[in-house]
Amino acid sequence: MSIIVQKYGGTSVGSTERIRAVAKRVIETRMAYSNVVVVVSAMGDTTDDLIKMAKEVSDHPSPREYDALISTGENISAAILAMAIQAQGVEAISLSGSQAGIYTENLYSKAKITKVDPARIMKELDEGKVVVVTGFQGINDMSDITTIGRGGSDTSAVVLAAALGAPVCEIYTDVDGVYTTDPRIVPEARRLAEISYDEMLELASLGAKVLHPRSVECAKENKITLHVRSSFVSHEGTYVKEDSLMEINKPVTGATLSDEEVMISILKVQDTPGIAGKVFSKLAESAINVDMIVQSTEEDHINNITFTVHQDDLKAATLVGQDIAREINAKGIKYDDSVAKVSIVGVGMISKPGIAARMFRVLGDERINIKLITTSEIKISCVVDRKDARRALKALHQEFELHKL
Ligand code: ASP
Ligand code: MG
Repeated sequence: MSIIVQKYGGTSVGSTERIRAVAKRVIETRMAYSNVVVVVSAMGDTTDDLIKMAKEVSDHPSPREYDALISTGENISAAILAMAIQAQGVEAISLSGSQAGIYTENLYSKAKITKVDPARIMKELDEGKVVVVTGFQGINDMSDITTIGRGGSDTSAVVLAAALGAPVCEIYTDVDGVYTTDPRIVPEARRLAEISYDEMLELASLGAKVLHPRSVECAKENKITLHVRSSFVSHEGTYVKEDSLMEINKPVTGATLSDEEVMISILKVQDTPGIAGKVFSKLAESAINVDMIVQSTEEDHINNITFTVHQDDLKAATLVGQDIAREINAKGIKYDDSVAKVSIVGVGMISKPGIAARMFRVLGDERINIKLITTSEIKISCVVDRKDARRALKALHQEFELHKL
């Protein structure tokens, strides 16, 4: 059985005119694949508008009603797309998350998909229909509607591809692929023909908004090739898949900038076992997501613990931080909210020494001060002053010759 899953993002279905164009593309896809499943996002800014409405009537909307509301954007686009496909002479049906058998955990706003029962989708495909499924939503075990996190339709699509045994999932978005960095900041940025799952995961987690990080994880687990492309043009985009030989020659594949983080330090902490555990358990209990963590030794048996959080969590994190500091007899806390994180990513750096040194040298040559450094096997991140971040990104793009990829 030849089957493909396509996902169309908010811009691709932004107007009825765009939806007619998508319908045409879906029908063309049917020439190559006998079974086409389409996952849609809400039209344009619909989800943002719905969130705004919720805020207008309540400071603390109940999570259940909140999800019942913000999931509706996808119902609209799915039904209109199904109509548009029918109008062009092909049988189609729209299915909600619940009708499509998408089950999630019992959590609102960021529920994980736990199970897909593809029976209904299979039945409709067998009857020769194009199946259009709402992204972003599922149901919990009480049959209540849940949503799976902003940008989650990518993940809905990949999860369906896994459940249906589709080897490829096409992600149509407003850019025509994955770039070496943000082209709005570095005009020389190049579209990558392909990129490995691990690199894409790092880029997505570091702020490249093109794919929902969980969708990449799920694609990797199920060996589904993602094809990120634009519905406005016909050329191919970027294939996200297992490492290929291509990557061996280049140590760095992409560079990112994220300026939504703030840095918080707990000062003069006793160097005894259990302290870090205490600090980060407290933050976790308050549902504050911590990104980078660095512990430095000030003098004998006294440490500073520095971490970064999303700027939306600054207030909550400093409150928790002050409590902790008091509890563990630290000197206090300080924060810096005018920082940004620049990172370079590449599987090639595993086998090539000296990449970190090059990165630091470039920043030094630009007279940019590094405030924090973290690394993984395939990533190096530096926190710098926010005002220097764009310059840092440009210099790194140049140094690693990403414009030549
Ligand atoms: N419509 C949802 C959002 O705006 C889900 C998505 O587009 O993937 O976050
Ligand atoms: Mg998206």
